[in-house]
Amino acid sequence: MTRVDAADVISDLSEVLYTSDQIAARVAELAVRIDADYAGRDILLVGVLNGAIMVVSDLQRAMKSHVEMDWMAISSYGSGTQSSGVVRILKDLGVDIEGRHVLVVEDIIDTGLTLSYLISNLTSRKPASLEIMTMFRKPGALRMEVPVKYVGFDIPNKFVVGYGLDYASRYRNLRDLAVLAPHVYS
Ligand code: 5GP
Ligand code: MG
Ligand code: MG
Repeated sequence: MTRVDAADVISDLSEVLYTSDQIAARVAELAVRIDADYAGRDILLVGVLNGAIMVVSDLQRAMKSHVEMDWMAISSYGSGTQSSGVVRILKDLGVDIEGRHVLVVEDIIDTGLTLSYLISNLTSRKPASLEIMTMFRKPGALRMEVPVKYVGFDIPNKFVVGYGLDYASRYRNLRDLAVLAPHVYS
């Protein structure tokens, strides 16, 4: 079996922050908490494309609750490593979320700009509840007003790739979370 671990692209990385095993263990812990918090209620997982594909996939397989999933695609970064501050919906939800228990699943929160936009947009559609989970969170996000209920890992303020996170569409299939070596993007 071939798969992409940090060792396969090691010269592009400066540091592995979390291995695939550590990520899987953390996702399993969060799944237990989410199952308990939503006991008896159906959950609509709203994954934010493309970065959240891995976490949505792993999270729902670790959960016991009834879950449906839907996706939104939002542009914020393009192919650079800095948030542009410009947020645009590229793909909207396929379902009506009014009266639903919505759990938004994000790959990473950096400035929180994307998420703030998403929350005000989704709130206006009158879900029964709206909570946020992110797999990774950078320090800037701590200044956000928006409460993030479930956080996988707080990470340093460095540009990371892997576990769904890309640089110029590459490295999403890296199973670990790693800091991209600056020589790759400078
Ligand atoms: P924010 O709006 O919170 O600044 O950024 C949110 C989006 O920017 C994330 O969903 C992700 O797509 C991208 N992003 C932020 N930080 C990183 C990072 O360190 N690595 C990668 N690959 N994407 C990031
Ligand atoms: Mg995202
Ligand atoms: Mg990206």
